[in-house]
Amino acid sequence: MDVPLYLEPRLESRLASLLRARTFLHTLAGGLGSPLNVVLPDRMAENLAAFRAVYRRHYLSGGIFFAHKANRSSALVRRLAATEAAVDVASLGELQHALGSGFVPDRVMATGPKNPEFLWLAARSGTTVNIDSPVELDELAALVRDYGLPRTRILLRLSGFCTPGVRLLTRQSRFGTAEAELDGLLKSVERHRDAVELTGVGYHLDTTSPAEKAVALEGCVKALDTCRARGFTPRAVDIGGGFGTDYLADGAQWQRYTTELTNAALGTRPPMTWRRHTYGLRNENGTLRGALALYPAHRPTAGAQYLDALLSLPAPSLGRPLATLLLENLYELHTEPGRALVDQCGVTLARVLEVRRTEATDRTEPSDRGESTDRRESTDDRADNADRAEAADRTGPGHLLVRLDANADDIGLEEHGVLVDPVLVPRAAPGGAPDAGPVTCYLAGNLCLEADMITRRAVHLPSAPHPGDLLAFANTAGYCMDFSADEAQQQPVARKVAVWQDGPADGTGREDTSWHWCLDEQYWPHVNRRRKGSA
Ligand SMILES: *Cc1c(COP(=O)(O)O)cnc(C)c1O
Repeated sequence: MDVPLYLEPRLESRLASLLRARTFLHTLAGGLGSPLNVVLPDRMAENLAAFRAVYRRHYLSGGIFFAHKANRSSALVRRLAATEAAVDVASLGELQHALGSGFVPDRVMATGPKNPEFLWLAARSGTTVNIDSPVELDELAALVRDYGLPRTRILLRLSGFCTPGVRLLTRQSRFGTAEAELDGLLKSVERHRDAVELTGVGYHLDTTSPAEKAVALEGCVKALDTCRARGFTPRAVDIGGGFGTDYLADGAQWQRYTTELTNAALGTRPPMTWRRHTYGLRNENGTLRGALALYPAHRPTAGAQYLDALLSLPAPSLGRPLATLLLENLYELHTEPGRALVDQCGVTLARVLEVRRTEATDRTEPSDRGESTDRRESTDDRADNADRAEAADRTGPGHLLVRLDANADDIGLEEHGVLVDPVLVPRAAPGGAPDAGPVTCYLAGNLCLEADMITRRAVHLPSAPHPGDLLAFANTAGYCMDFSADEAQQQPVARKVAVWQDGPADGTGREDTSWHWCLDEQYWPHVNRRRKGSA
């Protein structure tokens, strides 16, 4: 075997300490089953503090709205309710959950396209509504009038920004109103003055590019100027989410891994993936085509640091730093971090059921072609890869296949393009049989479905897993824990527990004895604090 291509997860003190608490984790998974989601609410408060520190550094005020859609956990939302944070909700259920967790409507914003029930509860409760379209504004105004409700505070979500003299445009979005149509939208706001109060404008862009966001942020400042010239008094710029997370401990590992992935796509090294999946790359007669369809798992500037960097960028046409632009107008800054606010806040545990070597094949394995239930590859991808996959599998040396009691929808890392290794949490105490060193394996799920692979890449682990061991997938709290989990094949959806630790937050407490837990729905900050005995 060649040098292991590790992609070790970034584990900060709390999460690292939890993953060393071997007995504790095995007790939890033993009692509550596999898969099991574990959330760390206290870490969320620390992430919030890091965002607030960036606001302070730039002398800015405004709300930090957690994008609830990243995780359904009650413990995380309730813990956040005990801080100064606000919450961004994108459905009726999320709004009910936020209100029931202790967020007063002042600290809630309803975003995304809304159905009538969602819009009604938002208006009735006094939640701020981030208007997604002109039609939605009309609907909201009508129901405020029909029910004699107080004026609803609104923000206008804009998209399709372009700045004169700057070539860069922001990407198209099916959400929000095009900046070019602001004038018509403001006419509607004027008509609905009795029902709504305009408090700001904003965007949410699904991009990692700070340059694009700078165009959008400056566009919002200009849009606020337009609003004020029309006699409105909005003060907030809402820059949405997308601050990102750094999943990996070592940037060099990521560099090496992606280089080798490219070489594998070109055929200049042995395949690294299940049936030569290529993560979007193609070899066309020796030329590499396509683009790596992966999350940039190593992001040296992520989360609060990304916000800091964005605010320090010059406005594309006005030149001054974006933070200065906001400050000189006394505008507020709203942010809606999802993934970044739950960084290091969760882990998904899965039990190893079986470890076996698939036989070295000299016959044609069935290819992905014709698998009607393959949800993970586009038809093009499949057709493209199938022939080469068959050829490769005919001569392959066989694989180590690790079957887990969890499926690909329980552990959404692969689905979200995040490549990161799991951490082995052995069942047996260290000091037993000597381990035989690094192994390369594929991780398969518990569904009777060829496509149910928890990783489509060969994962390198420092030692071989055994049945009964746990694999811990770190940092799944952002979208990779419960976003797509379902009851396919009547396999249970993972239970969720909240954990917290006695002693210092730096992870120096005694691992197995310092951790406490409760079911996610049992967690309330006050009760948790009393249990901890550190009130
Ligand atoms: C999803 C979403 C977010 C959060 O995005 P992250 O990338 O998780 O930070 C924020 N705002 C809106 C409107 C969203 O749809």
